[in-house]
Amino acid sequence: MATAEKHGFQAEVKQLLDIVIHSLYTDREIFIRELVSNASDALEKVRLKQLTENDIYQGDAELKISLTTDEENNTLTIADSGIGMTREELSENLGTIAHSGTKAFLEQLKEKGDSNADVIGQFGVGFYSAFMAADEVEVYTHSWDKSAENLKWTSDGATGYTVEEVDEQTRGCKMVIKLKEGQEEFAKADRVKEILEKYSNFVTFPIELNGERVNKVDALWLKSKSEVSEEEYNEFYKFVAHAWDEPKYTMHFSADAPLAINALLFVPNENQEQFGMGQMEAGVSLYCRKVLIDSKPQKLLPEWLRFLRGVIDSADLPLNISRETMQDSALIQKLNKLITKRFLKFLATEAKNDPEKYNEFYGKFSRFLKEGIATSFEHQEALGGLIRFESTMTEAGTQTSFAEYIDRAKDGQEEIYYLVGASRDILEKGPYLEAFKARGLEVALFTDQVDQYVLDSMPEFKGKKLVPADRADLELDDLETEGEALDAASVETLSKFMSDTLGERVEKVEAGKRLVDSPIAALAPKDAPNAQMMAMMKAMGQ
Ligand code: ADP
Ligand code: MG
Repeated sequence: MATAEKHGFQAEVKQLLDIVIHSLYTDREIFIRELVSNASDALEKVRLKQLTENDIYQGDAELKISLTTDEENNTLTIADSGIGMTREELSENLGTIAHSGTKAFLEQLKEKGDSNADVIGQFGVGFYSAFMAADEVEVYTHSWDKSAENLKWTSDGATGYTVEEVDEQTRGCKMVIKLKEGQEEFAKADRVKEILEKYSNFVTFPIELNGERVNKVDALWLKSKSEVSEEEYNEFYKFVAHAWDEPKYTMHFSADAPLAINALLFVPNENQEQFGMGQMEAGVSLYCRKVLIDSKPQKLLPEWLRFLRGVIDSADLPLNISRETMQDSALIQKLNKLITKRFLKFLATEAKNDPEKYNEFYGKFSRFLKEGIATSFEHQEALGGLIRFESTMTEAGTQTSFAEYIDRAKDGQEEIYYLVGASRDILEKGPYLEAFKARGLEVALFTDQVDQYVLDSMPEFKGKKLVPADRADLELDDLETEGEALDAASVETLSKFMSDTLGERVEKVEAGKRLVDSPIAALAPKDAPNAQMMAMMKAMGQ
């Protein structure tokens, strides 16, 4: 038998292990959740393989997860009959970090210091979390591939790891967690049972502890709403999202037509992208009758819904659909459209029923909705309804919506007027609002950096045109004015004088009826980018 092959860890792994071992003291028990979730993933993978391959190592092995506690030796063993790993896979999966979330986690910790428990809570640290409780971890494995070797991976979580060939193994992985001094609780059956009951009721494979069955094997998303408690939803969220906190929103629905769908979706409490951690990965898994088809399908939902976590199960999917064909399948497009619509409707209802909660959500996630407006034309109206802003008719700090704007508007007003700028204060000090104020017209005030771009891609809402209040070609009704107006000849002379003086800096100078108190205002010509857009373009060097 070959001798053990020594390997060093990738630098990022060392860094992660250092944090896991030295800084993560709270909730050590989650390492069990992480390892069980890996075992479950491995079982899902082999189940899918069984549909497309007929030559699988120990093809009849029961799909299950078995835990064994050993108080005498202070160990916990977690075994699964999943897909297993080859020699290359061992090094790739347990020696490097491929997972983008984990890399982001590291960067975040580097920036903010080690002790930010909040941030730690956002991530599952995966397999390496075993070293929160272990001195040493051994992984025994045989891949589903018959020609693969029987292997043992060993590491103390510090220097590196070894891989060696061993006696015949059953298919899958067996992880022996040699517990540190002080971590004896994880070698006690009662304690482990308690943890499994907390985190692993959603694993859709049997879990045994010392030979006894502990979980119920329920696919929560296939149950009806009335059968599921809020606590179960929250625990399931923690399980699928690797989260430590509770979801902001939970949406559970099923439909039979036009497609058979069972979906359980969660909006997290925090927006990870807000912490400057780059783009999140899609986080809603696709199942067909409880069989995982893809844990991160790219096109199942629009990109701007990447913050959602959860599960979509459709009995109408062909089980043996390959990931490649899936990306372009008409069925996926249909699912995408349907679920997106349902979710936006759900948000609209939530916004109506609990505006305060919705505002909290909006404060953190509005950028995703705006991204949707700019990229998904077919959902624009629904998304437009979810947008919030202040306006000349709200008090500072109070948000309103386009729907409310329309309700307040005078009969016959066919436009929604808006202004984009750095802040409400700046917009209010500018010359553009006075004409609207004088006519009793509301102007929506947008102050997010991306708003101009977003509004430019949204020509209307519910048939009302969205019109920037600083455009030169605006036609407003005549206003009764006090005092004397200049006669036509004087207007002409004044305009000419100003136009000559300003030269190329202006397109033209004309008399208008929009100013009430201010004598003059600079306006953007029709179809020209407005002031904010120009500032942005200038900033980008264009
Ligand atoms: P993640 O599960 O997010 O991919 P982990 O750190 O938990 O990250 O696991 C890293 C990788 O190691 C997994 O993606 C998988 O390829 C492999 N792995 C871990 N546990 C098992 C297991 N029990 N069976 C097969 N492969 C596993
Ligand atoms: Mg994992």
